Amino acid sequence: MSDADTQQRFLFEHSDVRGDFIRLGASYQAVRERYSYPEAVARQLGQALVASTLLSATIKYSGSLVMQIQSNGPINMLVAQCNHKRHIRGLARWQRDVPTGDLAQIYGQGRMVITIDNERNDERYQGIVGLDGKVLADAIEGYFKQSEQLETRLWLAADEHQAVGMLLQRLPDSRSNDSDLWHRVEMLGATVTEKELLGLPAQELLHRLFHEEDVRLFEPEPISFRCSCSREKISTMLKGLGNKEAQSILKERGVIEVGCDFCNQHYTFDNVDVEEIFSTELHTPTSETRH
Ligand SMILES: [Zn+2]
Repeated sequence: MSDADTQQRFLFEHSDVRGDFIRLGASYQAVRERYSYPEAVARQLGQALVASTLLSATIKYSGSLVMQIQSNGPINMLVAQCNHKRHIRGLARWQRDVPTGDLAQIYGQGRMVITIDNERNDERYQGIVGLDGKVLADAIEGYFKQSEQLETRLWLAADEHQAVGMLLQRLPDSRSNDSDLWHRVEMLGATVTEKELLGLPAQELLHRLFHEEDVRLFEPEPISFRCSCSREKISTMLKGLGNKEAQSILKERGVIEVGCDFCNQHYTFDNVDVEEIFSTELHTPTSETRH
């Protein structure tokens, strides 16, 4: 679809209600391709990627937002990450067949941890919620209820080709004299079906849902799959491991091989590389690292 891999903000004119619509296409496929995920796992991952991007879009920051699920059910680990440049990556682990059902059936008992790292002031915020509800969107609404105290609703859907989400949020500054608007918009939003989310471009969908309201849809902003791993970061990690440990791996295997779980990139370090890591002051990049 033409609005694939974009985020589109919209707002209800002269009001305190805004929204975001996100559709992932190629970026979702790029994440799916890393592992041979069962379809049910891939769709949960797709929804989580959309959700993390929607969450990221609701805050002003420079850094990364990570949504992580740790649980004991069929899917036992899931990570979805987005940064302020709308670069996304993610992965999931599963231990048995994933049934169709509610969150408890898919994830068992567990929790969702949302971590926001703000590079600008080196601050970290972390919020933890239970995996309560029927669908992933329910757990995320729980997170908003707990942390943001902004009224927020969201809807997520994924199939084998795309992952889609829509978020509605009522901002605290009450410019509106239409006090009923949030209530109306929330009710209309709740009528959205999976089929509509997956099948309609943002503009058409918003028209179908909110045609009696005055909605302004902004230009789409691109979203892409990009892993933030780099040789420099792995070097820093090896340095943290210590020379003694590094030497013992070298002695045992000849080289140190480190793979990135997010993108399957492999980094190899031989004797000379390791020597260099521990003999010099490690260059730590200050700007964004290349892949
Ligand atoms: Zn990577």
